[in-house]
Amino acid sequence: MSTDTLTKDILRGGQFLVKETDCEDVFTLEDLNEEQKMMRESTKEFVDRELWAHWERFEHKDYAYTEETMRKAGELGLLSVAVPEAYGGMGMGFVSTMLVCDYISGATGSFSTAFGAHTGIGTMPITLYGTEEQKQKYVPKLASGEWFGAYCLTEPGAGSDANSGKTKAVLSEDGKYYSITGQKMWISNAGFCNLFIVFARIEDDKNITGFIVENDPSNGITLGDEEKKLGIHSSSTRQVFFNETKVPVENMLSERGNGFKIAMNALNVGRIKLAAACLEAQRRVINEAAKYANERIQFKTPIINFGAIKAKIADMATNAYADESACYRAAKNIEDRIAIREAEGNTHQEAELKGVEEYAIECSILKVAVSEHVQHTSDEGIQIFGGMGFSADTPMESAWRDARISRIYEGTNEINRMLAVGMLVKKAMKGHVDLLGPATAVGEELMGIPSFDTPDFTELFSEEKDLIARLKKVFLMVAGSAVQKFGPDLEKHQMLLTAASDILIQVYLAESTLLRTEKNAKRFGEDSQAAQIAMSKLYLYRAVDIVIQKGKEAIVSFAEGDEQRMMLMGLKRFTKYTNQPNVVALRTQIADKVAADNGYTFD
Ligand SMILES: Cc1cc2nc3c(=O)[nH]c(=O)nc-3n(C[C@H](O)[C@H](O)[C@H](O)COP(=O)(O)OP(=O)(O)OC[C@H]3O[C@@H](n4cnc5c(N)ncnc54)[C@H](O)[C@@H]3O)c2cc1C
Repeated sequence: MSTDTLTKDILRGGQFLVKETDCEDVFTLEDLNEEQKMMRESTKEFVDRELWAHWERFEHKDYAYTEETMRKAGELGLLSVAVPEAYGGMGMGFVSTMLVCDYISGATGSFSTAFGAHTGIGTMPITLYGTEEQKQKYVPKLASGEWFGAYCLTEPGAGSDANSGKTKAVLSEDGKYYSITGQKMWISNAGFCNLFIVFARIEDDKNITGFIVENDPSNGITLGDEEKKLGIHSSSTRQVFFNETKVPVENMLSERGNGFKIAMNALNVGRIKLAAACLEAQRRVINEAAKYANERIQFKTPIINFGAIKAKIADMATNAYADESACYRAAKNIEDRIAIREAEGNTHQEAELKGVEEYAIECSILKVAVSEHVQHTSDEGIQIFGGMGFSADTPMESAWRDARISRIYEGTNEINRMLAVGMLVKKAMKGHVDLLGPATAVGEELMGIPSFDTPDFTELFSEEKDLIARLKKVFLMVAGSAVQKFGPDLEKHQMLLTAASDILIQVYLAESTLLRTEKNAKRFGEDSQAAQIAMSKLYLYRAVDIVIQKGKEAIVSFAEGDEQRMMLMGLKRFTKYTNQPNVVALRTQIADKVAADNGYTFD
């Protein structure tokens, strides 16, 4: 990392809302270095050869094939990208880690779930919280694929309320081991893992504690049958029962009572990686949809020539492009923050933990946005295939079913929506992000007389940038007033929080998309970015509509009379286009490019 980055005041987590970002300061997929490009190519080759070519085996619940391909991924080093070199890994940066999560996930959700559960929540708790001995003992085996990991947090009575688990850990009289008893459910990789990260409660502790538990059936560990699931058919998902399972005291992760923190931090990393894991899935659906629509003739013309199909293709491509822009922007922020912390003297372990925690708001935003986009894209993929899309013989049907889980695990989208706003408000209270100053300024602006000057919007994206700055004001207006009105009780107003969160999500995605395209238009020329410019404008147009709808919903839920009128007028002013974009023309332009390229070619 250059000394420039180390000294630069890079954006902190959540600050995108109150600080303007220069396009030169965002990282984009077009910034990948040669090593990263090679990594991407070898990952794609692996997916084509081992996963895509055997797509049907994953659909037919061939769990053994998932395990076999996980082992092959290990042999190629794909399981060790994020693991430090000292523990047998490649020690690559956060962007490279995201890249592998992204491109390995296109062919089947079964494999990407197994991959994510192992490399993320199955391995990361040890690399991030383990002692030196624990790391030396377990991480090299996990990095090479000799061993596989699983993560046991959820219980029948403890899902979203993860700290309420009933699994107990009782210290033996001689103080040498804990005896763990309890039932865990929905455990990915349970059927073939060698090691579990288990969360259990010691005595009546307020918080749970993490343990590393080797999978030894003779030590009181039994598995339920494979769950019958809607999708990700070959991902092993079972209940795990611990019956007085003996775990040496040296296998406690971090300190007693620190388990909830470990679980949440593992999930922060998991969330952004899950978002990445929904990118290639979108691209592959778009590729298949474009090919089909180019070939399928109805009314004597390829169906791609119909405006109704073009609109779908354009929206699908635009979502994927926006998601890529936001994911890699955040990934590089995290990578830089880790490097800064290391330069300040943190160990790699501490730096990585704090680096990701810093961007927990962005991780939640991305998890929600990208998991919903992959669902929408696979749904439209089915529609473009018509009746054939409904057939299990085409990959659209399984893509749709596989996509569904991403809105549920790693914290449901409801929980993540509320977390995003909740964490932002907490950061503001702690003084880490100054929301109060900008929110007060917006309040004053609302009272003032609006300018009637006609702005000069001739430069590329000048109107769009102005609009994004105003969308941020909508969030500050809504959230600022809501915090004033409800104080700490705000968390009880979930519909309001959800609406505010939707505004926040749209701001981050629209801004990231615009900044990526602006940066590329400056260096590669506007002509080369014509479709990307159209996608950035289309994404923003749709974002504005969502902000109007959610903003109104939020305002009328808590403001009345003059205050309500003033805020609604503010909403109108902050979401106003001087020059309305022609979205039909934008969609046509984007779809024509995808049709001509016979797929998604923007990555
Ligand atoms: C295929 C699969 C694989 C999984 N893999 C793993 C794994 O490897 N390890 C592991 O530990 N877990 C795993 N899980 C569990 C997963 O993380 C949970 O299913 C998820 O956290 C939701 O918990 P729940 O199912 O108990 O739903 P609940 O918590 O009961 O939620 C039900 C609904 O209520 C909503 N809800 C809950 N609380 C609130 C609230 N406070 N406010 C508003 N809405 C709320 C939720 O958003 C959801 O819509 C997996 C699940 C599946 C299906």
